[in-house]
Amino acid sequence: MLKAAVPLLLEWYRIHKRDLPWRKDRTPYTAFVAELMLQQTRVEAVKERYVRFLARFPSAEALAAASEDEVLKEWEGLGYYSRARNLHAAAKIIAREGFPHTFEGVRALPGAGDYTAGAVSSIALGLPVPAVDGNVVRVLSRLTADEAVQTPQKRGEYAEALSLVFPPETADFTEGLMELGAIVCLPNGAPLCGECPWREICRAHLLGKEENFPVRTEKRERRIEERDVCVLKCGKKYALNRRGKGLLRGLWEFPDLGGVPVAGKTLAVKRAKHVFTHVEWHMTGRLVETETEFGDFTWATAEEIGKKYALPSAFKAFMEWIV
Ligand code: SF4
Repeated sequence: MLKAAVPLLLEWYRIHKRDLPWRKDRTPYTAFVAELMLQQTRVEAVKERYVRFLARFPSAEALAAASEDEVLKEWEGLGYYSRARNLHAAAKIIAREGFPHTFEGVRALPGAGDYTAGAVSSIALGLPVPAVDGNVVRVLSRLTADEAVQTPQKRGEYAEALSLVFPPETADFTEGLMELGAIVCLPNGAPLCGECPWREICRAHLLGKEENFPVRTEKRERRIEERDVCVLKCGKKYALNRRGKGLLRGLWEFPDLGGVPVAGKTLAVKRAKHVFTHVEWHMTGRLVETETEFGDFTWATAEEIGKKYALPSAFKAFMEWIV
C-alpha cells in the first residue's frame, strides 16, 4: 500500500508544489530556520517573516553574532518565543562546528525534536529519515484506514513504516507528504479527494469514511487568567517590565500591578483577550499618565519600543496607546 503510494505522491508533488520561499536557495541553515518558524505556525504567517529573518540573519554566523534582544525583536509577533532562543543557541553551535551531517547531530541542536530533525535531514541533507507530525498521521491514517489516534507512539510507528519505503528523492518525499496534508487531505473531514493522487488506493476514501480518520481525542480545556495591563505613561515614555520565567520568558510587557490603583490620571480603559495553546489571558488594560518615572521599570519611548523591545502580540490591543 505505502509502496504504491510513493511514486504517485512524488509525481503529484512535482506538479503541484507551492512556490514557498524556503524552497528556494536552500541550505541546511535556511531549512532549519524554516522548520523552527513553521512549528505551530501557519505557512501564510511565516512566508514574509522568513524572508525578513534571513535578510537580517543570512547565515548561522550572522545570527550567532546577534544579541538575544535583537533576535527576539525580529521574532516579535510569531509567538512561541522559545523557538527564537533555541534557534539563536543552535546558530552559535553551527557557527562554531558547522552544520551536522547526521540525523542524530541535527536532533541534538536546540529546538529540534524528532519531527524537525527528520524534516531537515531529509529535506536539506538528503538522508532517508521520515518526519511525522499530526498532518502526516492524518494523511497516512486515511490512506490505510487505520483507526489511529494522534500519539507519539503512532507517530513512531508511521515513521518506521515510511523509512521502509523511502525513495532516493528524500526532500520531495517529505515535502510531498506535508504538502498533501496542507492543501488536499485537509483536516476536519474536508479532504479534497477528487484532487488527490491517492484517490484510487486510499482505503478511507474507498470506504467513503474520510472523516473517521484519524480518531479524535478530547481537547483539553484552556486555563483562564485575568490580567491587569497597566500602560504607564510619563511624558513621552512608557513603563516596560521584562518577564521572568515561564510563558513569554525574556520578552517585555506592560506591568501587571494586580489592578492596584496608581497615582496619576487614567486616560483610557479597555478589555482584550489573547488565546495561547493552554491559557487564555483576559486582560483589563488601563492607560495611566503619571508625573514621575517610578518603580523598577524600564522607561522607553514609542520609537524605542518599536525598534528595540520585543513585546508579544498578546498586547497588540493596547499598542494604539503607544504614540
Ligand atoms: S483520497 Fe482523500 S482521504 Fe485519501 S489521502 Fe487523498 S485526500 Fe486524503
